[in-house]
Amino acid sequence: MKKLIFALTVLAFANGPVVAQERALTHDIIEHARNLGEQAYNSNLTQDLIISLTSEVGHRLAGTENDVKGREWAKARMLELGFDRVWEEPVPFRVWHRGDASLRMTAPFSHDNFAITALGTSIGTPEGGITAEIVQFDEYKDLVAAPPNSLNGKIAYISFRMEATGLRGYGYAGQARRMGAVAAAKAGASALIIRSIGTDDNRTPHTGSMNYEEGVRKIPAAAISNPDADLLDNTLKYGQPVTMHLEMSSYSGDMVTTYNVIGEVTGSEEPEKAVMLGAHLDSWDLGTGALDDGTGVAVVMSAGAHIAAGGKRPKRSVRVILFAAEEEGLIGAHEYVRAHKEDHGDFENAIMGAEWDSGTGRIIDFAPGVGPTSLNVMRDIGAVLSPYGVATLPTNNAKGQSDMSALGNAGMPAANLGSEPTNYFDFHHTSNDTLDKVNMIAITHNAAIYAMFGYMTATVDVDFRK
Ligand SMILES: [Zn+2]
Repeated sequence: MKKLIFALTVLAFANGPVVAQERALTHDIIEHARNLGEQAYNSNLTQDLIISLTSEVGHRLAGTENDVKGREWAKARMLELGFDRVWEEPVPFRVWHRGDASLRMTAPFSHDNFAITALGTSIGTPEGGITAEIVQFDEYKDLVAAPPNSLNGKIAYISFRMEATGLRGYGYAGQARRMGAVAAAKAGASALIIRSIGTDDNRTPHTGSMNYEEGVRKIPAAAISNPDADLLDNTLKYGQPVTMHLEMSSYSGDMVTTYNVIGEVTGSEEPEKAVMLGAHLDSWDLGTGALDDGTGVAVVMSAGAHIAAGGKRPKRSVRVILFAAEEEGLIGAHEYVRAHKEDHGDFENAIMGAEWDSGTGRIIDFAPGVGPTSLNVMRDIGAVLSPYGVATLPTNNAKGQSDMSALGNAGMPAANLGSEPTNYFDFHHTSNDTLDKVNMIAITHNAAIYAMFGYMTATVDVDFRK
């Protein structure tokens, strides 16, 4: 009985204190939203956009020629698709050059073709490479515990294998990639190698961003594919010293300017206020950036285009923001917040935001992150999405995913649209991130959901900050 009372109390508090709730979602708004959804479901636009982006541009590594091509592509398409205004906002950023990477085992056995890729923003090895003994760690936290100087002249190796969900998921496993080089350098290592942060068994190493820390020596960092990590793990079990030769020519270059690309469907009554639909235009350079985040680009552009073509402007604007340099650490999103926070009006006028950066899964849930008096309006919006297979979650703490979390954390109300489980992390940040992995039916569904969500939140008469 005690247990039951506790559960009921938690439920009562989960819904928050009792406050006056608004009921503002009118029949007209719902009906037009459903029409937009219908149009999006019956259109090939979302799939045409992802085919066009991956065919005509390919990867979009920030600061490269392809980054420029990607932006030109996005601006031209948005204008063709009937957006009212399209513009760019500058994002200063240090360009990174991947160069080449190679790794071979020299003892106790020789293997000369490890599948390896540099981690994003890594430095290279000295000319001629590094030959050193491997010191294996089960996971990132074990490397953090390595005493200073214990790895002098060695290559640190983290063998942790991520799983698609749960405690061994991306966030936890990814620590090795994001922070491993700092921990390895603090213990004296010459380089860091990690098992790829990925769930596949292909010889496709997974790249991704890594960090250095002010005052800590920079060392080169790279990932090997899962099968290559298995080979290394098995060799280490012989109990003999394992030595490897690592060569990398990556380096960070000059400060350059890339741009966030923004397309607006201008609101009919309060155009300065806007709902933000986000994705990131940049990608890593190994594949064609189809899943990460070509699907997001296609979904939010298509949603904006359907709203623009719907015959009724939303009351407030809908801005499709294609962020720059997300992969290097949400650089375009942080710059957006920096630029618009000072410009007081504009950031306050970011009335709602949501992003798609979750690959190719179908949207199955909707999580609000709004003020207490507008929560019922968000739940009413969720109820409109429910017949399309999207469940509203009971929580109210969404900050917006990926880039949009930078805006959410700066005070913008947000929603998170959640994906069904997929094998995204088999392909994420690899040469296998290509168009054939995209589920066209799912991304068409997602564009319909974003179109309905964007129109309703931009038109309903409510302040989501309250
Ligand atoms: Zn992404």
